[in-house]
Amino acid sequence: MYLVLLGPPGAGKGTQAERLEKELGLPHVASGDLFREHLSKGTALGSLAKTYMDRGDLVPDDVTIAMIRERLQRPDCAQGAILDGFPRTQAQARGLDDMLADMGRALDGVLYLAVPDEELVQRLSGRWICRQCQTPYHTLFSPPAQAGVCDACGGELYQRDDDRPETVRARLRVYHQQTAPLIDYYRRAGLLVEVDGSGDIESVAAALLKVACTLAEKSDTPCR
Ligand code: AMP
Repeated sequence: MYLVLLGPPGAGKGTQAERLEKELGLPHVASGDLFREHLSKGTALGSLAKTYMDRGDLVPDDVTIAMIRERLQRPDCAQGAILDGFPRTQAQARGLDDMLADMGRALDGVLYLAVPDEELVQRLSGRWICRQCQTPYHTLFSPPAQAGVCDACGGELYQRDDDRPETVRARLRVYHQQTAPLIDYYRRAGLLVEVDGSGDIESVAAALLKVACTLAEKSDTPCR
């Protein structure tokens, strides 16, 4: 089952995708995490991506599509994947349709996590992420047991450069201009399911799991 988690930056896509990964047994494929991995390894793609990420802009479609295509072709994605942060433009959405078609597969559903803008800025500015396993925390909503240390793996927590207030505003602008039109694109395709993402993490997770399990039944993937 191939699912897309769509929503503005700060909607909780990463947190929720990790829950779904465990519940559904499907890999969580996050384009932002892949770019950050390239960056920490010092690859050419990583340095290219950084110039866009630091401004809150989108990395060009061709490199982003190629990176996701390569990721989805790895064996762990043969039964499906939960895509987070991709696609973000109409060209990427078409690119995704093409790459799945080449694999003899198709998208099963798009879970749209709706959160009002005012809430997003507050959420993003309190966000801390594990350098090792990428688990996200929040100073107000989900603090780690020990400040600066990951509960899951003991790794060091850090705040992303692009979670600075001015970059957060740029990312929200880019989201409204380039990514929000995908809501209609997928609605027209009959793939969109909207979930209210403004509640607490647990109730949003329960709502998403319910939708994902309904989609799993349709695609013959058993829900654990
Ligand atoms: P994220 O972790 O999803 O918030 O992504 C962080 C940054 O990575 C974004 O602000 C973009 O600069 C870049 N990025 C992530 N995913 C994409 C994508 N699908 N297309 C273009 N740029 C992306």
